[in-house]
Amino acid sequence: MTPFGTLREIRDAVQSGARRAVDVCEASLATIESRDPALHAFNTVVRDRALARAAAIDRHPSRSTLPLAGVPVAVKDNICTSGVRTTASSKILETFVPPYDATVVQRLEAAGAIIVGKANCDEFAMGSSTETSAFGPTMNPWDTTKIPGGTSGGSAVAVAAGMTPLALGSDTGGSIRQPAALCGIVGLKPTYGRVSRYGLLAHASSLDQIGPMTRTVDDAAIALSVLAGHDAADATSARAAVADYASALTADTASLTIGIPRTLIDTGVDPEVGKAFYAALDVLSGHGATVIDIDLPHAGAAIPVYYLVSTAEASSNLARYDGVRFGYRAPSEAAGPGGRMQDDLKAMYGRTRARGFGPEVKRRIMLGTYVLSAGYYDAYYLKAQKVRTLIRRDYEQAFARVDVVAMPTSPTAAFTLGEKLSDPLQMYLADIFTVSANLSGLPAISVPCGFTTSQLPIGLQLTGRLFDEATILQAAHVYERHTSWWTHHPPSR
Ligand code: GLN
Repeated sequence: MTPFGTLREIRDAVQSGARRAVDVCEASLATIESRDPALHAFNTVVRDRALARAAAIDRHPSRSTLPLAGVPVAVKDNICTSGVRTTASSKILETFVPPYDATVVQRLEAAGAIIVGKANCDEFAMGSSTETSAFGPTMNPWDTTKIPGGTSGGSAVAVAAGMTPLALGSDTGGSIRQPAALCGIVGLKPTYGRVSRYGLLAHASSLDQIGPMTRTVDDAAIALSVLAGHDAADATSARAAVADYASALTADTASLTIGIPRTLIDTGVDPEVGKAFYAALDVLSGHGATVIDIDLPHAGAAIPVYYLVSTAEASSNLARYDGVRFGYRAPSEAAGPGGRMQDDLKAMYGRTRARGFGPEVKRRIMLGTYVLSAGYYDAYYLKAQKVRTLIRRDYEQAFARVDVVAMPTSPTAAFTLGEKLSDPLQMYLADIFTVSANLSGLPAISVPCGFTTSQLPIGLQLTGRLFDEATILQAAHVYERHTSWWTHHPPSR
């Protein structure tokens, strides 16, 4: 059995008894063991726990109806797992073991999924390359000198390299879709409020959303139906009805209107990415879609708006890591000159945060604190919120004419490890096509749409109306059905 079986194939085999969940789990763990030393997708692997849970699924009285029966899953390490270390890839939470499960973890396990480990990510999900992790970067399986994208890079690599058929990511400004694109898999950011954020270590609360990463669109649809739904523990979670998304993927043609913001796309996209993107639109228009040009006049402001709003929210969210309640506390300073203790509470906070957070997280906290401070609030934060409204309106106007907005997911394919790490602005510009879906709350999916000449994957991004995941899944599925990119897997060296 190849490690690249789909979620659906595995689920069906375990449901029917053709395969034991324990054997599926062993196979997943064996792939992790052989591949992960070179890739570092995982911060933690929970071998015994996973095998025990898989054995329980094999004995489960309603195994035959569990929607994720025996499906191995990698959970991004910023999503709380009861009894299993959850670090957000930060030194400050290196030893943090949550006393509760995130709602999405509860839902996955209730559906029969088996968590095999916690996936590496950028520290507190800040970055675009999984290089800001305090535990070292994740490597792209297509070329291990390249980044896998980020921040859900470990999740993307677990799926791309055949370690698990499903991973959870979180997406604040592109962190599900961009690594999915750069690793050649499917990544879905649901509508804000569609999936509970309870138990997600908050980065920017008005933007964060958890979603599935898989090798096929059908698998993403199956997972979304499990993850989505109202949760009383998350005040922002929506009461919108959840469909059986996978069963709805029946059409062979996509008779819908797709809008493309051509001026935005044609400025600053790598030519190979642009070529793959327009070829993908030709496939869709060859199978029923009408493609028209649209204008998103404020799209050029999306990056600055995103990095003002997200850092403001992050600076507030990260105030809780003070060395008292969670994780790391810097040891107290030795007695100073004359034997007098130098320490007080404030010094302990400062030392803990200085040593516990990495440089990118500190940069965000400082930027966010600055934009929220008296005198600058109106000039930066308030203004950014106003432009955020304009960006959302651009989409509302576009959706009066089109069903889906298409863009490349990322302006380039995977870049080289270290290439942008010392230039934050270059790193931030990698998010040009992804952040506006978060700023507007809209659902968006990335689906593989080709390769560069050096065999690096390229992703097509489709954005839909609020709570209309069904339409982007449908369009992505039609595209996938008429192409074979998803059948390509990275070399297993
Ligand atoms: N690259 C963006 C950032 O660094 C997005 C991160 C994310 O989606 N978590 O903030």
